[in-house]
Amino acid sequence: MARDPAGARNAEEAVISELVERLRSRDWRLTAQRRVVAEVLAGEHVHLSAEAVYDRARRILPEISLATVYNTLNELVAMGEVLEISTGEGPKRYDPNTTVAHHHLYCVGCGGLRDVSPEGLDTLSLSADERHGFELVGVDIVFRGRCPQCQAPATAGAHAVTSESGSA
Ligand SMILES: [Zn+2]
Ligand SMILES: [Zn+2]
Repeated sequence: MARDPAGARNAEEAVISELVERLRSRDWRLTAQRRVVAEVLAGEHVHLSAEAVYDRARRILPEISLATVYNTLNELVAMGEVLEISTGEGPKRYDPNTTVAHHHLYCVGCGGLRDVSPEGLDTLSLSADERHGFELVGVDIVFRGRCPQCQAPATAGAHAVTSESGSA
């Protein structure tokens, strides 16, 4: 298969082979089913829901079950190898990009989710008062909006959301 040498695909493939590599080096029992789950997390669409992971995994390994997909995702999250992202609506999404700190841009129209690196985060802080005695372990920022496709005026006056909805 020909590949665009400078394309985003390569970055995504790097993320996934990195994930599989990391898992191997941690002695995680890389069964065929677990491997497929780890592999389909990357590709053209990162940030898949568990159902989307299942759909993709099933095309490669038809006998895989939804329960296995959920268990594997939960294990990967518990190991810190995959991030679980809550957009505030819809199902949780899974992100194999744990090596580069990033935040997210979420489309309220189609559910698309992109990685972003917002500026000014270094000056973001909570005063001792507002920390309420918490020991902070992280911050997740989700910018919400409408992607260019979802901003396009609806043609027949009705909803122009197509079957692509939620697939990104
Ligand atoms: Zn959208
Ligand atoms: Zn991400």
